[in-house]
Amino acid sequence: MLENIKIKIHGFSNTAILKDLIDEFISPDQYEIWEDDGFLYDDCIHINKKISKDKDEIKREIFTKLESITGVRPGWGILTGVRPVKLAGELLQKFGDEKLVRSVFIDEYYLSEEKTDLIIDTYKRQNSMCGKPAENSAGVYIGIPFCPTRCIYCSFASNQVGDDEIQKYIPALLCEIEYVGKGIKENGLEVESLYIGGGTPTTLTPNQLREIISAAKKSFNFSKIKEFTVEAGRPDTITEEKLDVLLEEGVRRISINPQSMKQKTLDLIGRAHSPQDIRNAFGMANSKGFEIINADLIAGLPEEDMSDFIKTLNEVIEMGANNITIHTLAVKRASKLKNIDNNYHYTVAETVSEMLEAGRKILLREGFVPYYLYRQKHMAGSFENTGYCKGRTQGLYNIRIMDEHQSIIALGAGGITKRYYPETDKLVRIPNVTNYKEYINRIDEMCARKEKNLWR
Ligand code: SF4
Repeated sequence: MLENIKIKIHGFSNTAILKDLIDEFISPDQYEIWEDDGFLYDDCIHINKKISKDKDEIKREIFTKLESITGVRPGWGILTGVRPVKLAGELLQKFGDEKLVRSVFIDEYYLSEEKTDLIIDTYKRQNSMCGKPAENSAGVYIGIPFCPTRCIYCSFASNQVGDDEIQKYIPALLCEIEYVGKGIKENGLEVESLYIGGGTPTTLTPNQLREIISAAKKSFNFSKIKEFTVEAGRPDTITEEKLDVLLEEGVRRISINPQSMKQKTLDLIGRAHSPQDIRNAFGMANSKGFEIINADLIAGLPEEDMSDFIKTLNEVIEMGANNITIHTLAVKRASKLKNIDNNYHYTVAETVSEMLEAGRKILLREGFVPYYLYRQKHMAGSFENTGYCKGRTQGLYNIRIMDEHQSIIALGAGGITKRYYPETDKLVRIPNVTNYKEYINRIDEMCARKEKNLWR
């Protein structure tokens, strides 16, 4: 095993962006970056001795040196910290020639042929499915930061609290919905998609769900909304009554997120439900006639092997999911798993690679196609999360949020609004506080932040 690798980067102070690339090859426990003191040492890998200011040139040098030392060639090449499909779109528009764009990805960004095909095809598919957003359109996200238990890989705003606490959150959220609704009208915006996510929105009672959706209906012009999603998420929070409320209120797209159909794994990752609860939730959603049921799975869960993963995927397809997102386990700083095993994602990288490939083949055979993808830091190996859809079950909100050419207005604790400026093609972030108690206490301040940065 490689360890204690000393890397010295000369004349380039923003080592954080280079660190993301180095992490694709080796664990942070195995190397250290040395300050540039102007000297050359025999036991160091020296990068950028000729002091270039071109970040990509330095990244190519790191890539080549680490490839020769580790024997690893990450499929995403030197692309870190960017949305690859978005970049494919930008390059296709700039050059207008797919062959040229392919050669940029392969020769300059060192992408594998497979990843290059994936992002170009995904970009073209997204374009044919939903085109570019109208300039005055926005997506709206409403966050419900509560879950029955906390998953060991979770790094989101997720609180495990009783009904009394949840009930205190509702008035603050209703206040923000009303405020944002007014701002949207006054500024001539149209809501294109509405996504209620979390946490787990179905932690709420049927009445609370109805209250929030009714408030959204009063505040936003629903006749213009093309997609309305509610993330039902945890199967143990789904009941007939809640599904009835969602259907009555016009929700046609829900998520039921099993992650795994193996009891031992569900126990290990901190979920308090059984595979049978997942089957029951799908059974209810199917019998009620939801048009799109999305399911999230994770490749690389603790103690899962290939047969566990394939079994889960096949069963989820059989249960009627027509939109499936395959995530690669990301071990983020705020998760319990990070404390248990800092290097977990490096250990399982090979297995995950095989799982993703096998999963892709099964989904293609079953008539699914990839329609959006994104990469995160701290993912198992050099992989990605990919959303597959069957027929026209794509998620418009998912596409828009990754494409970054539309404002996304986020409400609730932990929501991060992204205001898009078409003139400069830039996004400005306007975050709400993450702590739900703070959110309740400082709701006026959350609205004031939007007043100052969103509408002007
Ligand atoms: S369901 Fe999602 S938000 Fe809730 S604890 Fe698990 S990972 Fe976190």
